[in-house]
Amino acid sequence: MKIQSSLLPEKSRKQKPTDVLKLSFGTVFTDHMFMMDYRNGNWLDPRVVPYGPLSIDPAALVLHYCQGIFEGLKAYRRGDRVLLFRPEKNIERLNKSAARMVMPTLDPGFALDSLLKLVRIERDWVPQVPGSSLYIRPTLIGTEPKLGVKAANEYLYYVILSPVGPYFPTGFGPVKIMVADKHVRAAEGGVGAAKTMGNYAAGLLAGKEAAEAGCTQVLWLDAHERRYLEEVGTMNIAVKFDDEVATPPLSGTILPGITRESVLHILRDWGLRVNEREISIDEVIEGLGTGRVEEILGCGTAAIIAPVGSLYYKGVTYTVGDGNTGPLTQRLYDELIGVQSGEREDKYNWVVEVS
Ligand SMILES: *Cc1c(COP(=O)(O)O)cnc(C)c1O
Repeated sequence: MKIQSSLLPEKSRKQKPTDVLKLSFGTVFTDHMFMMDYRNGNWLDPRVVPYGPLSIDPAALVLHYCQGIFEGLKAYRRGDRVLLFRPEKNIERLNKSAARMVMPTLDPGFALDSLLKLVRIERDWVPQVPGSSLYIRPTLIGTEPKLGVKAANEYLYYVILSPVGPYFPTGFGPVKIMVADKHVRAAEGGVGAAKTMGNYAAGLLAGKEAAEAGCTQVLWLDAHERRYLEEVGTMNIAVKFDDEVATPPLSGTILPGITRESVLHILRDWGLRVNEREISIDEVIEGLGTGRVEEILGCGTAAIIAPVGSLYYKGVTYTVGDGNTGPLTQRLYDELIGVQSGEREDKYNWVVEVS
C-alpha cells in the first residue's frame, strides 16, 4: 500500500517548544499524523495528514464499549541521527492487544514503515536536549456506529507524536508509590496484558487516592489475594534483594513491558541473578525492615527507569534504602538511556535508525 502525504506548507506549521523539559508530558503535538481506515475486511487509504481533530460518529463503538488499544514508544536524537528503540516489539504487542480485543491486526512490516515515514517527516520535532524525546502514540479504535455491544467492523488506526521531557514533573528521582490494597487493576483471564484503554480508566480512582496520599503512582497487587506485586501505573516493577533482582512473572495480568524485557536482558548480561517470580508485599515490607530489599524500581517507556523512594501501604510509609536512587537503578538508567539515545554501544541491536 502506498502512503499518501498531504503536508502543511512551512508557514502554517507550529512553533516548536522552546523548553521541552518544562512541558507537561504529552500536551504538545507535531504538525502531522498518520491515519489508516479499516472497512470491509481491508486496511485502506494510509495517509500522513495535518494533525487535527478526528471526525467519528458519536455512536462509534470505542466511545461506548472501549474497543481501543494503543502503544507508546520514543524517538531520540543524537546529532543528526534519529533513533527508535525496539519499535518492532511495540508493533508485535499492538497486534497481540488487537487480537485480545477482537480487532484487526496490522501487517508488521507496513506498520513499521508507516511509523518511520511519519517520524521522518516530523524529524525536526525530535528534541535535542538530554532527557527529552519524541513520544510516539499509535492508536487503534473501533469506529463503527452501533449501540449494540459487539466487535466493530470499521476501525481507525492513527499515530500521533508529542515532544516530551521527563514523565514525572519531578524528573528522574525517587518517587513515592501507594500500594493499592482496595482496588485492583486486572484479574486472571481479563485484559491486563493488553494495552487497552479501559484498563487506565479503571485505575483512575486508585490514582486519585494515591495523589491524595502524596504519591505519584499506584502499585497494584494481585486481584485474587491482594498479596503479590503486579505492576505500577504505567510501569513494570522490579525489586533488588541482596543477591537477586526479582520481577513479577508475565502471568496475563500485567503488561509485558518492552522496557521490562530490556532491563532483564541487561541485568542477566551483567551477571546478576534475575528471577521472574511472585513477590509478596509482606516479603517486600519485611525486607525493607531488615535491609534485604535494597532497591525498588519502575520501568516503562514513558519514565524509562523510576527509582522508588518509598512505599505507602495501609497508612504507613516505608522508605526504600535511604530514600535516594540506588546504585543499580542509576546504572540501569544510564545504560538504557545511553543505548536508546545512541550514546552507548547498541550490543543487542535494539536501535532502529530513521534514515
Ligand atoms: C505501557 C505500559 C507498561 C510499560 O511497557 P513498555 O513497553 O516498557 O513501555 C507497563 N505497564 C502498563 C500498564 C503499561 O501500560
